[in-house]
Amino acid sequence: MLQTERSKRLYQKAAELMPGGVNSPVRAFGSVGRTPLFIKSAEGSRLTDEDGNTYIDYVCSWGPGILGHAHPEVVEKVRAAALDGLTYGAPTEKEVVLAELIRRCVPSMEKLRCVNSGTEAVMSAIRAARGYTGREKIIKFRGCYHGHADGLLAAAGSAALTGGVPDSAGVPASYTEHTLIAAYNDRESVEALFEKYGEQIAALIVEPVAANMGVVLPKEGFLTFLRDITKRYGTVLIFDEVITGFRLGIGGAQAYYGVTPDMTTLGKIVGGGMPLAVYGGKKEIMDCVAPLGRVYQAGTLSGNPIATTAGIATLTILMEHPEIYTELEEKAGILAQAYRETGRVSVNQVGSLLSAFFTKEAVCDYDGAVTSDTAAYAAYFGHMLECGVYVAPSQFEAMFVSAAHSMEDIEKTVEAVKSFT
Ligand SMILES: *Cc1c(COP(=O)(O)O)cnc(C)c1O
Repeated sequence: MLQTERSKRLYQKAAELMPGGVNSPVRAFGSVGRTPLFIKSAEGSRLTDEDGNTYIDYVCSWGPGILGHAHPEVVEKVRAAALDGLTYGAPTEKEVVLAELIRRCVPSMEKLRCVNSGTEAVMSAIRAARGYTGREKIIKFRGCYHGHADGLLAAAGSAALTGGVPDSAGVPASYTEHTLIAAYNDRESVEALFEKYGEQIAALIVEPVAANMGVVLPKEGFLTFLRDITKRYGTVLIFDEVITGFRLGIGGAQAYYGVTPDMTTLGKIVGGGMPLAVYGGKKEIMDCVAPLGRVYQAGTLSGNPIATTAGIATLTILMEHPEIYTELEEKAGILAQAYRETGRVSVNQVGSLLSAFFTKEAVCDYDGAVTSDTAAYAAYFGHMLECGVYVAPSQFEAMFVSAAHSMEDIEKTVEAVKSFT
């Protein structure tokens, strides 16, 4: 049995100070019926908790950690950057360097802007799309997550063809009335919304690979279909690549699937472990943003020199070592195969993103994902922890493989998977 005395004590204190003892809900381990482990440090593929237990980590801070934890080159550059000051609130060369790197990797981002979180990137991209088109409505997909901006906290239980109903208390219905909900991988649900609202729709936002309902791959032709229908109606197509950006390859999902959106949001990997996210796209859309245009968007710490340093260092390593992506895919493939062989789960994998769903049938949409046996997932989660493997404390989160996972780590993980009964 794991010794977790210190984590438990810290959790008791934290619970008096923060709602649920955490600064982001999924960290609370609520859906696996446990109390969270408090992490003291991390290096490479490993996390160490406050009680001194170490785990092979497949959460990777929910996606940023593609190089593993505390990559020496990234840490060294961040350390050096800190000595030059933590923030200036004025332009820096680093912002230019990072923007150039991003545009080289993701050419559809002709102009871009740095913000501090994926939530902010999406919120700002949608504002720019609305400002550019002069339209109000947006389409999102049930089960796709785009951060916690008010207008995007609508997704569950809404029939297509009705305005979104807020998922969260504290969100007035009027804030989601322009949010239309479609079903991922379901063309008809999208067509129906365009037939009804057509020229009122400013933007359609999608995770090109859905990775916040567990990993669900786009059906053949689905992204091309979205590209075509948005073009036909003059709607801005936004790919939310906060997870898939630099994860499916240096060019993200848009390069992987060969479908080019009008706008893109990036987060997670782009900040190399620091709070940084980016939105950008066609020049004529981005030129609507202040101070050039009338779409207001700002940020005290946006483009922060430490965060941009971590981002530049991370992207540079990824660009210089394209073999990383082949290796990631191989390692993820071995894990996927091990899960399949248990005969208990259905597995979705693309590149280094994967999910093992406790379902009988293959999962290709939100309705399929939510049929998962979450009690079985909770038991599996506990088993993996006991084996020294830290997977997401929820069925509906992706498993992330990093460049720091050694073949030995993968083999140890395969053993853990096989021994779950
Ligand atoms: C994580 C995530 C966000 C939100 O990013 P934060 O940095 O947590 O605000 C938005 N979109 C997608 C696809 C994400 O996975």
